[in-house]
Amino acid sequence: MGLDVWTFERFWGKMLRDSREQLRFLMVSPRQDLILQPLRYDGNVDIRIRRLVTDIMEKLYLADHYLKEFDAVVQEVEEDRVLLDRTAFYPGGGGQPSDTGRLEWDGGSCEVEGKRDRLICKGDIPPAGTSVKAALDWERRHQIMRAHTSLHVIDGIAYKEYSVDITGNQLYPARGRLDLSFDNMTRELAEEIIEASNAAAKRGLPVKAYYISKEEFRSRPQLMRVAGHLYDKFEEFRIVEIEGFDMQADGGTHVANTSEIGTMVLSEYKSKGARNKRIYVDLTD
Ligand SMILES: [Zn+2]
Repeated sequence: MGLDVWTFERFWGKMLRDSREQLRFLMVSPRQDLILQPLRYDGNVDIRIRRLVTDIMEKLYLADHYLKEFDAVVQEVEEDRVLLDRTAFYPGGGGQPSDTGRLEWDGGSCEVEGKRDRLICKGDIPPAGTSVKAALDWERRHQIMRAHTSLHVIDGIAYKEYSVDITGNQLYPARGRLDLSFDNMTRELAEEIIEASNAAAKRGLPVKAYYISKEEFRSRPQLMRVAGHLYDKFEEFRIVEIEGFDMQADGGTHVANTSEIGTMVLSEYKSKGARNKRIYVDLTD
């Protein structure tokens, strides 16, 4: 999910023209779910990217989806926006909303909301150089992770059983929206897909994230759900796999086992045009 290559293409185009700040945004934005090191451009751009790769904050949320609290140091402050040296707050992107939570330090605290690579502080503002203790609003994040994995299960069923692709998605706490490239959709069909998805999720399948090389990625055409040539510029790909069931290039956070999803309930479906049908699911339990 969140295979937002088109967005990436737009940022990449901007990056070639725009300032260092634009490039920095490109590098830290999770909208390019697939990117690890986009170092394959020529000349100056290549060199700039190499330098900035060492600049960017450590994305703890990619390594550990269950990290709820962490220590960090404030790098930059701009009005109410704070940049940390490392973060477990998901910054938003690929249909997954940014995280919320709290920072505490000697002499202050604030509620935060992720905004791309920055956190917006409501309350005190920690000065640059401050060591902070950060905590995610875990209940909300876990509900979003359940929703994210649930959409991968539904998409897995849709892809395997009906040979349709994702055309869009949006995640909310314990709720998700998925757009699929069906020509026709009926309530019965939507219910059938959700029923099959629940049966798959109840099997308790492990979910894992890892990286594969471009060569390996190319050898698995089922991973390429967007025009193949767009993948050429990436050296490595982050894969989220529901073991033995579904694999996708993905930059988001997921539950460790499909049994954590709960039960998916079809709450709404509608046609958004030819080859674009929208399904909403709510999670119970
Ligand atoms: Zn996803």
